[in-house]
Amino acid sequence: ERMLEIRKLNCNPMTMKVTYYKKPVFIHHGFMQWLWDVDGSRYLDMFAGVATVSVGHCHPKVTKTAQEQLQRLWHTTAIYVYPQIQEYAEKLISHLPEPLKVVYLTNSGSEANDLALLMARLHTGNFDAITLRGSYHGGSPLAMGLTSNTLYKYPVPSSMGCYNTMCPDVFRGLWGGSHCRDSPVQTIRECTCSADQCHAKECYIQQLEEVFSTTIPNRIAAFFTEPIQGLGGTVQYPKNFLKDAYKLVREKGGVCIADEVQTGFGRTGNHFWGFQTHDVVPDIVTMAKGIANGFPMGAVVTSEEIARSFAKGLHFNTFGGNPLACSIGSAVLDTIKEERIQENCAVVGTHLLKELAKLRDKYEIVGDVRGKGLHIGVEMVTDKASRDPLPPEAMAQIMEDTKDMGVLIGKGGLYGQTFRIQPPMCITKEDADFSVAVFDQALHNYTERR
Ligand code: PMP
Repeated sequence: ERMLEIRKLNCNPMTMKVTYYKKPVFIHHGFMQWLWDVDGSRYLDMFAGVATVSVGHCHPKVTKTAQEQLQRLWHTTAIYVYPQIQEYAEKLISHLPEPLKVVYLTNSGSEANDLALLMARLHTGNFDAITLRGSYHGGSPLAMGLTSNTLYKYPVPSSMGCYNTMCPDVFRGLWGGSHCRDSPVQTIRECTCSADQCHAKECYIQQLEEVFSTTIPNRIAAFFTEPIQGLGGTVQYPKNFLKDAYKLVREKGGVCIADEVQTGFGRTGNHFWGFQTHDVVPDIVTMAKGIANGFPMGAVVTSEEIARSFAKGLHFNTFGGNPLACSIGSAVLDTIKEERIQENCAVVGTHLLKELAKLRDKYEIVGDVRGKGLHIGVEMVTDKASRDPLPPEAMAQIMEDTKDMGVLIGKGGLYGQTFRIQPPMCITKEDADFSVAVFDQALHNYTERR
């Protein structure tokens, strides 16, 4: 009866608009990498509520910790001290390099990015922020100003002082242009320059320099980047881009902010944080999603120097860092360690990338397979030569089919042309193989129907 009630719910049309599927999926419960709908059908969850359920749905250890904390204490606000917040902050900073040692807790990624921008403005005395085209940094008015991806931006003037620069995309080059001034090709992979002679890097940095010279000379407060773009479609930057960009931004007086909302907590496999892949240390790191396995929580971590500038203002967040969130956050960090979740991301992610690459070789419409660990994107094209994005109806058909065969995946990209695979980080090789087999069948069905 309860299940029928759920299905009869009058769905808010606005919410339904963002539903991926023609026939909505009514989820009833979940366990680890699995979800069940109200009819009892089981799905392998390869999207984890947008890269959020990090260690598994209703993970027993995390659930037990939450239940115990629910019986002990829910809320006091941070005007009192409670052990959970101290324990959590200590545990979190043990995963971060020097000088990132001061933790502020929020309830979401948007709040974390709002706070990071505020900190950067107070610390530098400057106002403007630069983000990359295709980026997503949140839905609050301030974070939406930082967000560039027009699919997720309301058509109202964005927050003042936020500028986008071209995003160097390893697959597509600089969107709309060739990647290298010496080579009229679209992508780095096809570039014939040898690695040390390639001018791509200078080209990208030149774009950033242009923003400084034409738009915001010496007024930059912050440069925000996701180490791998998430909603932008698992976009990866060329080697050294972030390193060079950080150097330039710092020379201009700004601070560098890594948005680890999707890339953090071991998801990229070889590293705990996405920024480590780029061999940089940000001035501020923001995080959310996987931090608490689906419980609302976010964090900003910075240096003592920046925190001192920020301490001049009044920071207050009623729910941020509440005892329940901190306990859950701690249990997630313990589980990542105890169950070797980061290693699992590296092993299963590498396997998944290898298997998906076979589909790229098999189907004309699979343009690119990329990512790191369990942060994977499959970019779909009408054909490999043109690289035109596969239209939304085709993407929807493939997703619907994949879902009907029991696998849930996500999508992103400036045209919604990239399938995203960011499952709970506990999936096994067998799950990976099952998802690839299902995806293969859905691609086959689409190609046959076409
Ligand atoms: N940054 C990134 C990279 C994100 O993917 C998101 C959410 N999709 C956010 C920030 C905003 O997080 P939240 O939805 O928790 O506010």
